[in-house]
Amino acid sequence: MKTWSETLEPTDFTATYKIERLIHEESSEFQHILLFENVLMGRVLTLDGVVQTTEKDEFFYHEMIVHVPILAHGKARRVLVLGGGDGGAVEEVFKHQTVEHATLGDIDRTVIDLSKRYLSAISGQAFEDPRLNLVIADGRHFVAESDDHYDVIIVDSPDPIGVGAALFTSAFYADCKRCLAPGGVLVTQNGVPFTQMLELRDSMTSLTSLFADARCYVTHVPSYIGGPMTLGWASNDRALWRTPLVTLTSRFRKSAIATRYYTPAVHQAAFAVPRYIEELITAR
Ligand code: SAM
Repeated sequence: MKTWSETLEPTDFTATYKIERLIHEESSEFQHILLFENVLMGRVLTLDGVVQTTEKDEFFYHEMIVHVPILAHGKARRVLVLGGGDGGAVEEVFKHQTVEHATLGDIDRTVIDLSKRYLSAISGQAFEDPRLNLVIADGRHFVAESDDHYDVIIVDSPDPIGVGAALFTSAFYADCKRCLAPGGVLVTQNGVPFTQMLELRDSMTSLTSLFADARCYVTHVPSYIGGPMTLGWASNDRALWRTPLVTLTSRFRKSAIATRYYTPAVHQAAFAVPRYIEELITAR
């Protein structure tokens, strides 16, 4: 039986998957793309040797990176997703009938084409949604050149390796800030701090210097090994992160969205980060 091991962590700590069936493998202009079938996780998308998403546990991640900012905001009409080529984030965004427009900006058309072909269990109808504006672009350049404004910006990036590194710089975050509408919020994929502490600490240092309120919240994604993963949060609205539970509950009920991980109570609890994460982001 063929196996595949993730090469994100130092080799002394990694995850190994049995490959039930190899679906597709190629090197695009930007990254090495591997798609395979695993009995437990379903279809698995990896980029440059790192798990990006799996059919079976994508909801732990996509529900939390999307519903937390949108339900905290309460009136999000325009959303920007940078990265996110698997379609999972925009699929969750479009469950909000209040959202009128979502731009998805991914650098790699090959990832989008392969996700449409093999990962429709994750993207659903998102790529066909009339509210979608699909852009093939480096997210760093997209925000640097954009004079559009968004209520929620979601950076659904890989880890800061290869082309993904551009989505972790201060300059990129400053341009995201410029593209946020008043009262808007930026959320970022910020890795598993138990094994990727510098990724979180460096992002928090940049976001803290740019926004009135910068913090992170946690979710748990089985295929992102090493404990809870963090999602960066940045807004000039200092109160947005602590939107009252009663408000979140009423908004969630009104949205009529069926979820498998997100609940208003999980949303609120997600901002109670473990001590080691707190210490990591405050020790500068
Ligand atoms: N959920 C995953 C995670 O937590 O690592 C991310 C998944 S998504 C597939 C990552 C996407 O980011 C890929 O489709 C990749 O092509 C895209 N990407 C990487 N660097 C980028 C950049 N500089 N601009 C835009 N998209 C980028």
